[in-house]
Amino acid sequence: MSKNLDTDVVVAGTGGAGLAAADAAASNGLKVIAIEKLPQIGGNTKISSGFFAIDTKEQRAEGLKLTTEEAIRQLNEYNHYLNNGPLTRRIVEHAKETLEEVESLGMEIKLNPTANTTQFAHRDNPYAGGSYHMYQNKDQGYQNIQKSLEAKGVEFLFNTTMTDLITENGEVKGLVAQDENNETVMINAKAVVVTTGGFGANKEKIKEVMHTDRMRSLGVPSMGEGLFSMEKAGGVVIDPHALIHAAQLAKSKVTQKTSSKHLAGFSDNPLTRVLLTPLMWVDPNGRRFTNEDTVYDTVLWANAGYNVGGMYYILVDTKTLNAFTDGKEMEVSKAGPGANTTPGNFVELVNQSIAEETAFKGNTLEELAQNAGFNLAELKASVDRYNQAVDSKDDTEFAKSAKSLMFKVEEGPFYAIKAQVAFLGTVGGVRVDDHLHVLDKDFKPIKGLYTGGANAGGYYEGQSYPAYEGLASGFSWTSGHLAGLSIVEDLK
Ligand SMILES: Cc1cc2nc3c(=O)[nH]c(=O)nc-3n(C[C@H](O)[C@H](O)[C@H](O)COP(=O)(O)OP(=O)(O)OC[C@H]3O[C@@H](n4cnc5c(N)ncnc54)[C@H](O)[C@@H]3O)c2cc1C
Repeated sequence: MSKNLDTDVVVAGTGGAGLAAADAAASNGLKVIAIEKLPQIGGNTKISSGFFAIDTKEQRAEGLKLTTEEAIRQLNEYNHYLNNGPLTRRIVEHAKETLEEVESLGMEIKLNPTANTTQFAHRDNPYAGGSYHMYQNKDQGYQNIQKSLEAKGVEFLFNTTMTDLITENGEVKGLVAQDENNETVMINAKAVVVTTGGFGANKEKIKEVMHTDRMRSLGVPSMGEGLFSMEKAGGVVIDPHALIHAAQLAKSKVTQKTSSKHLAGFSDNPLTRVLLTPLMWVDPNGRRFTNEDTVYDTVLWANAGYNVGGMYYILVDTKTLNAFTDGKEMEVSKAGPGANTTPGNFVELVNQSIAEETAFKGNTLEELAQNAGFNLAELKASVDRYNQAVDSKDDTEFAKSAKSLMFKVEEGPFYAIKAQVAFLGTVGGVRVDDHLHVLDKDFKPIKGLYTGGANAGGYYEGQSYPAYEGLASGFSWTSGHLAGLSIVEDLK
């Protein structure tokens, strides 16, 4: 059995990008059907904390005066000019109006005016936090948005997964989907917006683009059907990658809700204090690999961990764990997940991790190397160099600060606790122009095809986390808004 539907615009995926596109099209009198794989709207955008925009009324009230030109310059430089210049400019210019539109749909948004966000990323950029407009009461906000869009005539089809595009002579004429009863739904449309949010849950594809399968995925189960359908229809996939972000204890039990202190998707165990302290870190071969002070910045920390494949080990001895039990630890980072600050017996906590095979123990370094699979010579040499650095307060290997050179690794039993870089879905996708038309290999728009958010390429470069707080979430709404307006313009 298959169903056939006709509409002006069909939107696949109802995260920020899809919702904003549906809103812009419906607000201008077009008939819109929005399909969604899950039983609810929001996608990863609903999990995200805030929206990048500049020159908003709240920023002006705080005296924050990042100009459009300065924001664009910083974004271009952060991306080494590998980003799409006109697209970047239009997003920065239209973020404020999009934010106001999202507010008008019923989402409460409040500026975080400081660099202290839940993420502690890009610590030296005063605007990293000050451009972060935080969503409030998200559950209520998304319910309001759905109601507002329905009132504008948008028809939502939930539990409906896009599987392909309908094409004819190089033009896109609609899409094919499957509903919850596995029935095929054909939706014929004048314009298709594919905003299915990348492919964060597609393990194989993540492995292909990131060259490792050791990282931890957070986010909704997007497999990439939308992105790959656009590629099949002639789109060019240019820059997809996992949005790497901090690290967590391997196999940690995760919280589902973001609070002011704690990000959704991260562990809430006192051992997070060991994770979030610049102790000695080694790679899967037992070799030290970075300046552990990177733990104080969500982005640099994830990057350093990704560099050794996304999984590394925190090396401690019993004396160090006892110091944690006694509350005599180093400054705990507020980056990424944030730490649980309740007291605990850290030897016992690590022993629980050993039982779960997320930590290893050895009475000697030889035994630890054997249990954790380290190369003994690398491990011993690294430990020797590290202990010398702690003694001399001079890390000649990676220039860690003297204040963080506090705990030697010298008295067994020794422990190696696994940490895993996390990623928040993917970003980057098919090449687009600044009106969110999907371009073919000759840089010409594919008629009828539009995208935005995590499926759109050109806004990000490289695998590092974007330059400002809220950039991905803000891009999602703003690019979707612009895609919807392009459709209105093109269908005139
Ligand atoms: C835990 C977490 C925290 C984050 N925090 C931030 C933050 O604070 N700031 C920031 O800038 N970014 C953050 N991000 C990243 C940001 O949320 C995303 O990059 C952005 O929201 C993507 O928006 P989108 O509209 O493209 O996709 P999404 O919001 O993910 O929406 C895509 C929708 O498409 C649906 N879908 C998938 N496949 C199909 C299909 N085949 N057919 C139909 N529907 C489909 C999905 O179910 C989903 O509802 C975070 C991400 C996560 C996971």
